[in-house]
Amino acid sequence: ERKDLPGLNIDGLTIRFGGHTAVNHLTMSAPIGQVTGLIGPNGAGKSTTFNACSGSLTPAEGSITFDGVDLTKAPESKRAHLGIGRTFQRIELFDSLTVRENVQLGREARLAGTSPITQLLPRKGERAMVAEAAERAMEQCGILDVAGARAGRLSTGQRRLVELARALAGDFRLLLLDEPSSGLDHSESDAFTALLRQVVAENGIGILIVEHDMNVISGLCDYAYVLDFGQLIFEGLPREVLSSEIVRKAYLGT
Ligand code: ADP
Ligand code: MG
Repeated sequence: ERKDLPGLNIDGLTIRFGGHTAVNHLTMSAPIGQVTGLIGPNGAGKSTTFNACSGSLTPAEGSITFDGVDLTKAPESKRAHLGIGRTFQRIELFDSLTVRENVQLGREARLAGTSPITQLLPRKGERAMVAEAAERAMEQCGILDVAGARAGRLSTGQRRLVELARALAGDFRLLLLDEPSSGLDHSESDAFTALLRQVVAENGIGILIVEHDMNVISGLCDYAYVLDFGQLIFEGLPREVLSSEIVRKAYLGT
């Protein structure tokens, strides 16, 4: 069973904002070595679920464990140390820093146990390791040629690749990617999907991905969960999700 594999387990997760229940008794798993999809209409609770997993908000009910370690109320630093990394729905890069500097922040954040969108000074003795991890990640993402450019000067497609490289430089075991191909055109999105497939195969990590494009889900995910108004309305293999009446009604409105 998926929940018995190493990785992330969410059990009965409920998150409220005042009187509004954004996530309602959600149970799902994202094993290492697999790509797990999380889909659903706008406002379904996908980003909120990510925020609970990465530690920027505390759930009202339920638990979140990683490799059996309870993280429900753990600080963000502990989650980073254990190997959970993330990207953001809205691109969060330092525009005035170079691509290389942005990617290095991913590694530094992992070492320091902070969010990759915090600027840090690398500790002495760690600089070579940070630099090496960043070069490897940029190479894998095909952005070495723009390593010296300021992040703010790049196209959306390139900026999405920088975000991914920053997450990869952290050498996390599970990456939470919140709509990582949003803003990309068809061919960029296809290339991004192929890159993610390569990353899972080569790096042996797990990915939990929020994604709107059903083609990406079917081409990439091993398994997918569908949220609507904070409720899990369906889970299964991508082809089962695609052919589900319930999903079609909720998500595609047909
Ligand atoms: P999704 O990522 O699936 O589009 P979100 O998780 O961002 O949805 O939001 C789920 C619901 O929770 C929405 O109704 C949204 O308005 C609400 N919500 C999200 N964050 C907050 C917040 N910080 N305060 C109040 N309501 C929020
Ligand atoms: Mg969202």
